[in-house]
Amino acid sequence: MSFNGIRHDWLLSEVMDIFQLPFFNDLIFKAQTIHRQYFDANRVQVSTLLSIKTNACPEDCKYCPQSIHHDTGLEKEKLLEVQGVVEEAKAAKAVGATRFCMGAAWKHPTNRDMPYLLEMVKGVKALGMETCMTLGQLSQLQAYALADAGLDFYNHNLDTSPEFYQQIITTRTYSERLQTLAYVREAGIKICSGGILGMGETLKDRANLLIQLANLDQHPESVPINNLVKVKGTPLANEKDIEPFDFIRMLTVARIMMPKSYIRLSAGREQMSEQMQALAFLAGANSIFYGDKLLTTSNPQVDKDNALFVKLGINPEKIQDYSDEIHKAAIVQAISEQTQNNQFGDNF
Ligand code: SF4
Repeated sequence: MSFNGIRHDWLLSEVMDIFQLPFFNDLIFKAQTIHRQYFDANRVQVSTLLSIKTNACPEDCKYCPQSIHHDTGLEKEKLLEVQGVVEEAKAAKAVGATRFCMGAAWKHPTNRDMPYLLEMVKGVKALGMETCMTLGQLSQLQAYALADAGLDFYNHNLDTSPEFYQQIITTRTYSERLQTLAYVREAGIKICSGGILGMGETLKDRANLLIQLANLDQHPESVPINNLVKVKGTPLANEKDIEPFDFIRMLTVARIMMPKSYIRLSAGREQMSEQMQALAFLAGANSIFYGDKLLTTSNPQVDKDNALFVKLGINPEKIQDYSDEIHKAAIVQAISEQTQNNQFGDNF
């Protein structure tokens, strides 16, 4: 089996063999070795989110507190005004933010929504910032329109293996998800796509999810790996916790299979000890969500994250010529402004 280079032809037997490697001395060593070939091992990329439309989503994702099918007590909110979104971005930029991510809880944008979404992208782009959106299913035309407006990144997770998928979501097919990713890629937008662990899936399901992502013609630039956040009122509220080392194992295998992608230690970080997070970075994770609140659930405090970064000798990734201090301030500011509105799906 070859561990070198960028591959798009992974077989299930190979991936299962990697999962079975001795965890600490072999698997982590291999992942860290590969990580260092493509990234500065002491840099972690940080992301922020703004919910532009909250709750009452018609999809039935079993893990999501925003689905209209589950009673989780969240209030519905309308699509935010364009100017309000641009103002949020402007305020974030004023203190140094360079990328602004916008997400909506719905099945897909309608033709009526598109002009507003395009204006949001253009407005944020005109500030000189990078743009990112997560809007569910896209048509080919919508993907091109978003690209033309200046959208840089699109988040659309596969969530789990094709085999297990139907036990988690029945209102959208796996192939529709792959089609959206194909439209996004074709339009020239960078892809952010990953999955969720702890929903009752098997090891084989985890391997098959990674195979789906790694065997795409081009690997997603960003691969978020979420640990299920169990929200009361959702059908997965009582799922068994997964073994923390099994979560780290997933990060290592993702790093080995997609060496140039940012592997994001995503939802569920609140439940992880500092030691476990350190192990995740050693395993090749190099991206996190930064802020006091992650969507509808809590996330480690920014000062706790900064303290951990200092302890580990890690710096937030530098973007252009902004200093780390300004970038951190921008993130803190953006997060505090988002806290009131930030209610879209928890696993990104
Ligand atoms: S994860 Fe997204 S698509 Fe699924 S119910 Fe939640 S908001 Fe809707």
